[in-house]
Amino acid sequence: MRYHKIPDETVRRLPVYLRGLVFYSEKGLKNISSHDLAKLVAVNPWQIRKDFSYFGDFGTPGVGYDIHKLIKEISRILKLDGGHRAALVGVGNLGAALLAYGGFEVFGFEIAAAFDIAEHKIGQRVHGVEIEDAARIATLGERGIGLGIIAVPRTAAQGIAEEFVSAGIRGILNFSPVHIDVPKKVKVITIDIAMDLARLPYYMPAG
Ligand code: NAD
Repeated sequence: MRYHKIPDETVRRLPVYLRGLVFYSEKGLKNISSHDLAKLVAVNPWQIRKDFSYFGDFGTPGVGYDIHKLIKEISRILKLDGGHRAALVGVGNLGAALLAYGGFEVFGFEIAAAFDIAEHKIGQRVHGVEIEDAARIATLGERGIGLGIIAVPRTAAQGIAEEFVSAGIRGILNFSPVHIDVPKKVKVITIDIAMDLARLPYYMPAG
């Protein structure tokens, strides 16, 4: 099925719904009202109904949403069904923390490969993943790994992005605090906690 263009704000909220729905599903619940889902994810019920209206109407009056169906549908829209394998480059403080984090699994992500240039790190295992020589990034295409995560110093980020692109990577999560240029066929999302912190005081109530 083809979907109409879904607004970015809705796409941003879909993983939030998904996480909430998986939480309820793991508790053994089959249905959830838009009111309860709204409380769990801290979004207005009308917003939830509007978001879901972009890809069909899954609610049944008086019963609510079928949690299993909704999880399947949101996963399909986000192209999470089938899972994704990612490669991490840079196993320093941040990279090691990412390897330790269990929160990717719920969305079907696995960090399946990790690379570094530091000789003393190559060959070591961090949370079950062997650190490989960064020269092996070129092998990613033939290993069925389609996502790349950049956790290297800013000066190395652009070069790693280019190596990812040459290896066939089409989605990059960039943690380096720098803009990276890639061809249009590649999607980059940059995350910087400092940027979020920098706008927090502006929103803080006075007093
Ligand atoms: P770190 O120095 O602890 O680790 C960097 C790692 O990258 C090291 O293991 C180093 O050997 C490796 N490396 C360097 N050049 C490389 C290359 N060309 N190829 C492969 N590996 C290479 O640094 P850190 O604290 O983990 O931070 C890593 C990056 O993440 C930095 O750019 C930092 O600014 C950024 N960061 C972002 C956030 C965020 O919120 N987005 C938070 C913390 C750190």
